[in-house]
Amino acid sequence: MPFYEYRCEDCKKTFTMSELISEHEGHEKEPECPKCGSVRTHQLLSGFFAKTDSKT
Ligand SMILES: [Zn+2]
Repeated sequence: MPFYEYRCEDCKKTFTMSELISEHEGHEKEPECPKCGSVRTHQLLSGFFAKTDSKT
């Protein structure tokens, strides 16, 4: 499942949200920061990535 990366403007934390959640929330609304609860977040434009569990 692809994940999108966001960054919080308040605490600078980066976090990921799944594509399904972003579709449900709508493209105009950014998700809340999971750390501080701020809605001043924006999606990073580096594209999505596939989360892997590989250990090296
Ligand atoms: Zn934050």
